[in-house]
Amino acid sequence: MIYPKKFGINPLYPQAADFEVIYKDTLSGSGVITKRYFAQGDLLAMVAGEEMSEILQHTLQIAPDRHMYDPYFTGYFLHSCSPNVSLDMSKRTVTALCDIEAGSFLSMDYAETEDVLFKQFPCSCGSPNCRLWITGRKETATAPYVAALTSSAGLMATAQMTGEY
Ligand SMILES: [Zn+2]
Repeated sequence: MIYPKKFGINPLYPQAADFEVIYKDTLSGSGVITKRYFAQGDLLAMVAGEEMSEILQHTLQIAPDRHMYDPYFTGYFLHSCSPNVSLDMSKRTVTALCDIEAGSFLSMDYAETEDVLFKQFPCSCGSPNCRLWITGRKETATAPYVAALTSSAGLMATAQMTGEY
C-alpha cells in the first residue's frame, strides 16, 4: 500500500505492486510510474488525502474551496496536455484514458481539477495540443507568460495556442 495506515483500509487504494513514485528529471521532479498494464477505461485506483482549504503543490481541488493533500500518489502525477489518466475528484477515482503500458508515467491535465494552480508553468509535454503555458481552468496567464509574448518564441507560441482557445 502506498498510503499510510491513517487513511484507512480500502482495497482500491493504490498498491505498491502497481505504482511507484520515482524521480524523473530536474524539470518535472518526481512522477508516478505504472508497474503493470492498464487498459483504457480501467479504474487505476481510488485516492485519498488530507482535506484542507489551501492550495499546495501536492493538492487537488475537490470543491471550490476544498483541496485534497496527497503527497503519496496523485500529488506526483505529471501534467500533460494529452494525459493518460482522468481524475474525478467527487468520486476520488483515477481512470485510464488510453491503454497504459507498464513503466509509463501517469499524467493528468491539471486544468481538469484545478480552478487555480499552485503555480502556473510552461509546458513541454510534446502533445500536438500542448497549451504551452498551463493555468488553472478559471485563471488567466500571469506575468511570466505575458512577458514571453513579447519575444518571437512567445509570438509563435501564441499562434499555436489560437486553435486551443
Ligand atoms: Zn503541454
